[in-house]
Amino acid sequence: MRSFAIAAFVCLPLSAAPAAQDVPSFVNSETPALVDTYKDIHAHPELSHFEARTSHILAEALRAAGYTVTERVGRYPDGSQAYGVVGVLKNGPGPTLMVRADMDALPIVEETGVPYASHVTMKDLAGQTVGVMHACGHDVHTTVMIGTARAMVAMKSQWHGTLMLVGQPSEETIDGAKAMLADHLYKRFGRPDRIIGLHDTNGLAAGTVGVRSGASAASSTSIDVVIRGIGGHGAYPNAGRDPITLAALYITQIQTIVSREEDPQDPTVVTVGHIEGGTKRNIIPDQVKLELTTRSFSDKSRDTVIRGLEQMAAGITASAGLPPEKATTVTVLDDESTPVLYNDPAQTALVRATLVKALGADNVSDIPRAMASEDVGVFALPNHEIPLTYFILGAMDPVKLTAAHAAGKELPGPHTSRFEPLPEPTIRTGVTAMTSVAISLLQ
Ligand SMILES: [Zn+2]
Ligand SMILES: [Zn+2]
Repeated sequence: MRSFAIAAFVCLPLSAAPAAQDVPSFVNSETPALVDTYKDIHAHPELSHFEARTSHILAEALRAAGYTVTERVGRYPDGSQAYGVVGVLKNGPGPTLMVRADMDALPIVEETGVPYASHVTMKDLAGQTVGVMHACGHDVHTTVMIGTARAMVAMKSQWHGTLMLVGQPSEETIDGAKAMLADHLYKRFGRPDRIIGLHDTNGLAAGTVGVRSGASAASSTSIDVVIRGIGGHGAYPNAGRDPITLAALYITQIQTIVSREEDPQDPTVVTVGHIEGGTKRNIIPDQVKLELTTRSFSDKSRDTVIRGLEQMAAGITASAGLPPEKATTVTVLDDESTPVLYNDPAQTALVRATLVKALGADNVSDIPRAMASEDVGVFALPNHEIPLTYFILGAMDPVKLTAAHAAGKELPGPHTSRFEPLPEPTIRTGVTAMTSVAISLLQ
């Protein structure tokens, strides 16, 4: 018995699956089940802060694959617990690689018409009932993480070190990554040596990926502006100071920050996305509230925007002859802001080479930087302390994409009701890409 046991032990690495297994054939065999999982998650989207079901599906899948899993990782500033998931697989000495996927959906009524479309409504944080849709493809990301988890177990003989899979909640509200760090993610589970992640896109065909070195997505800064005036009867504007007129002037004036004060070589965006003031046509209100987002790739351009908003706010107050207690205020919301997403050049070069090897050079493109933002960069810590690479996963039906581009159009993109990833090649490519990259970074 004893010699048999030794013989079996010695034989195991040779006869067990890993030696015969390669990434593409393993992923091909897993893809049908993963597509079912994707459709299930897609049909049951959950808003940021409410990812109970999705996070549990991810946690159970990682547990079943052999990972040590912790749920409810993350704490928001109000003290509430987030739905973050951490799955750890130790495989001998070596570096720690963190793979990040986000899990939340958006308050959008789905209009894709696919058989697995969402019909879900739920109450948002403000208590309003809204339609919910995976309109940013975080269902793709979660599913790709499940597939990658399984593939990395099957490929255990090809890598060593520690794999740390992080299911992040609340990307759309850009407070999920911060909540996980605030809950001592790195103290509890170890500080990773490297971080990777992916996001799907309407700009590339399913079966392909895109990558960029250096600054890849802009920083996002949320800013509230309150323009105060002196309310009164709409028939007697001379008796007060109309904040709606002041708001109109201010909104027009702040557009000159980008066009006249910023360096044209350093792109910046200032958008007023929400304006609220007044109750009735014949009442002049006391104040108007503006919600702004700004996007930039440097601290300099971000600071120029904030300084411009403050100076012009002071100018509005002065020009209306308002007293200090009626001053227009500008408040930067750090909890709702996120840094530039910076892809570490050395690591990204290795990732790109791996993607070319795994998918073929024709299926890997170099992509422009995006003015959109992503909070995955928060995990890299200030000054890009931990090397991070975030690549882009093509998700569109190639035939439809070619036809759209030939007509000079784009297919519906993320954050729209008709954003429609093509499940099968997208998920297969995502798992192949992520697994190949993870193996190459865990050598
Ligand atoms: Zn999004
Ligand atoms: Zn997204």
